[in-house]
Amino acid sequence: MNIVGHLINGTMVSETDRVQDVYNPATGSVSKQVALASKATVEEAIAAAQAAYPAWRNTPPIKRARIMFRYKELLEQNADKICAMIGEEHGKISHDAAGELQRGIENVEFACGIPELLKGDYTKNVGPGIDSWSELQPLGVVAGITPFNFPTMVPMWMFPLAIACGNTFVLKPSERDPSSTLFIAQLLQEAGLPDGVLNVVNGDKEAVDVLLTDERIKAVSFVGSTPIAEYIYSTANANGKRCQALGGAKNHAIVMPDADMDNAVNQLLGAAFGSSGERCMALSVAVAVGDAAADALVGKMRDAMQSLKVGAYTDSSNDFGPVITAQHQQKVVGYIDSAEQDGASVVVDGRCPEVSGYEEGFFVGATLIDGVTPQMQSYQEEIFGPVLQVVRVNSMEEAMQLIDDHEYGNGTCIFTRDGEAARYFSDHIQVGMVGINVPLPVPVAYHSFGGWKRSLFGDLHAYGPDGVRFYTKRKTITQRWPSAGVREGVNFSMPTMK
Ligand code: NAD
Repeated sequence: MNIVGHLINGTMVSETDRVQDVYNPATGSVSKQVALASKATVEEAIAAAQAAYPAWRNTPPIKRARIMFRYKELLEQNADKICAMIGEEHGKISHDAAGELQRGIENVEFACGIPELLKGDYTKNVGPGIDSWSELQPLGVVAGITPFNFPTMVPMWMFPLAIACGNTFVLKPSERDPSSTLFIAQLLQEAGLPDGVLNVVNGDKEAVDVLLTDERIKAVSFVGSTPIAEYIYSTANANGKRCQALGGAKNHAIVMPDADMDNAVNQLLGAAFGSSGERCMALSVAVAVGDAAADALVGKMRDAMQSLKVGAYTDSSNDFGPVITAQHQQKVVGYIDSAEQDGASVVVDGRCPEVSGYEEGFFVGATLIDGVTPQMQSYQEEIFGPVLQVVRVNSMEEAMQLIDDHEYGNGTCIFTRDGEAARYFSDHIQVGMVGINVPLPVPVAYHSFGGWKRSLFGDLHAYGPDGVRFYTKRKTITQRWPSAGVREGVNFSMPTMK
């Protein structure tokens, strides 16, 4: 069987001691296996990145940018192949995979601007004949650890910008859908990246733990579930590394009584069920303000959901595909069961969808649950499946309190026609990314992405301007060139310009 290996120092490396099955979630069958890197393999990748660092650090930013320009073109030329790889291992329909890839490419486009982004600040005459400037220097070897749900986009939140900043990189993708990630790394190599600047090691906790503890790794970017994010953040910090660890989510949409209900329903359909709800920005809770709004919302959603199509990635007319594994399918179904047992009503039931020709696939149909309360387990925890839960409240204040009380604070949205209400909401809500009549407010590549509360551990958000800050350290230099023969006297006071 085909084994997905590693990319180390510009060369594909295979390893067979420990492997894991990779599934095609639409058929439910094993399509290949992925090598799980040993400690020695990860150390080899770190050594390659360390060796490549001095030359790459001193490569002019404009030359680094040119590689990124070529990389963007290669990604675009290979888009269909990449989307097919995503579909086969993740299950995403091609239109959705194309969206993920495009969002990834936009991060490469941002990295193309690195000569401008790395410009420092300069002040002449901070003192008599004294000039001062700040510059942004790379950190060294940095690592990225990424989740299954965006096998190309999330890695591209990290390595293009980190590398453009002058760092070298070791990436540990998700072991559940590794092929497209490995392929986009190979394309960067093809674009002219020197060997060792980007290395990919596939693997599990064993590989991750090496990245978290090896002193040659200076910073770690992580995206995944909250329990693992917390572990990554505390372990990386304990080992003296800079770390940003993005975690899970429970994103609420407030539906106000004055909302354009047909538009809100359309937006919610895509944001709740697109990518089978396996997005950290998926809207998984609709908070309806007032029973009239709730009844209208539930009625219209129920009707609209009749025409949704769940199926295999090979048919682009499908709206969304399977979830990632059989275990995850059971977990999602378990949350629907528990909501029902806790007294909520399952208005549209996706527990046993019929997908002709794909009976063994890991499918869950779009599910709508009404009457959910904050005490229910299905409300408190991230489901990460095509399930929209409706919570009924009496006021916007109550809706906002609900959101603020939730442990996660990744994304949120309000559907309303009232500008004053929307402005108050965006100003006060304790969530990192806010949409106003925009259901998936994922920041574009030249802003930065990050949640609040237990959706992000660390100070800096991912990509965009915060990405540049994360992957560089500021150095401030103060210089004086006294004329020949001029000597300063001794001064024991703190120097000032007074
Ligand atoms: P996950 O936490 O299971 O895995 C993420 C990465 O961590 C993978 O590379 C995996 O190999 C590694 N990992 C898993 N268990 C580990 C352990 N015990 N020790 C060390 N490393 C370990 O996440 P997932 O299931 O792949 O992805 C889905 C999760 O990611 C969801 O919770 C989702 O909300 C979250 N996510 C968050 C964002 C965000 O930006 N906040 C974006 C995408 C996904």
